[in-house]
Amino acid sequence: QLNQTDSHIEQSLEELKALTETAGGEVVAILTQNRDRIHSSTYIGKGKVEELQAIEEEYEPDLIIFNSELSPSQNRNLSKVLGARIIDRTQLILDIFAKRARSREGKLQVQLAQLEYMLPRLSGQGIELSRLGGGIGTRGPGETKLETDRRHIRNEIAEVKRQLQQVVKHRSQYRERRRKNNVFQIALVGYTNAGKSTLFNRLGEADSLEEDQLFATLDPMTRKLKLPSNYSILMTDTVGFIQDLPTSLIASFRSTLEEVNEADLLLHVVDASHPNYIEHEKTVHRLFKELEMDHIPQLTVYNKKDAITGDFVPSPSENFIKISALDPSDLHELKQEIERLMIEQMVPFDVQVS
Ligand code: GDP
Repeated sequence: QLNQTDSHIEQSLEELKALTETAGGEVVAILTQNRDRIHSSTYIGKGKVEELQAIEEEYEPDLIIFNSELSPSQNRNLSKVLGARIIDRTQLILDIFAKRARSREGKLQVQLAQLEYMLPRLSGQGIELSRLGGGIGTRGPGETKLETDRRHIRNEIAEVKRQLQQVVKHRSQYRERRRKNNVFQIALVGYTNAGKSTLFNRLGEADSLEEDQLFATLDPMTRKLKLPSNYSILMTDTVGFIQDLPTSLIASFRSTLEEVNEADLLLHVVDASHPNYIEHEKTVHRLFKELEMDHIPQLTVYNKKDAITGDFVPSPSENFIKISALDPSDLHELKQEIERLMIEQMVPFDVQVS
């Protein structure tokens, strides 16, 4: 990365590591490079390429992830001298979105972003298209392989856009059905690595699906949660928020969060032990605003209190709780707090209707 302060680079790389782990990867080495300007043909310098080759010898990684965007030719040149597949930050994020997208709209949005990312990067060598499972035998007269590939991708883009339009039409019907069910819904949101999945797994009930019609059709990211009063509500986990979300990915990010707009309460999970937790909180709040989710009631859940070492000051907000997702009594306390906020939203029994 160029023209960035050391601490920004460090944070950004740490985030990239967390994202890689979210995508199911294991990081074996992290390399940085100080250069005044990029090496035009390989992005990184010759010495750094050699260092990468040595790392390949030692660890045999499946993947090399660049934190910055490579040009198509830089990617090609690097691929000639390195054995592992090379991707960049945007592709990594797209991969996470693709895994986490559940609604049809979310899936289509991610597919669209993937195709649009691919279009200017086609090399005409068929590597990208083989992943789409198409392209062979579809060449028109006089077309080069590259032209055929481009045409194929453009057709796919048009098709995905057409399907998206239809999905948007159906969405309101789906919303209506959800509303009729009349179940209180909470959504876990927050910065990547804050502990959302841990909370999701520890709070939720995984087993009781068959017995209950209403909960039988849940997607894997939604679970039933039993409150202390025995009342059952729905809880949805969401894809993590990140600092430098490429603008080209906003639409697909937004649609993977589609269910969040249906939630009655947002649990904003914050890793309170992280040195930059205040910045993370701000990033999430900014995105709440951008995504028009800031009208939904929120409970800030400061997680990992067991790991806090420095000073911790909760931000001024209406509702917050400090917990460790690993502590069962804290989880009980959290459920009580959710219940309290749920009851607060209901019409109080002692209200006299005149
Ligand atoms: P997500 O990206 O928000 O879903 O975060 P995860 O649930 O995957 O958690 C990220 C990491 O933090 C995992 O290694 C968890 O084991 C760890 N973690 C989660 N909650 C706590 C906690 O309360 N205390 C500590 N010390 N670690 C936690």
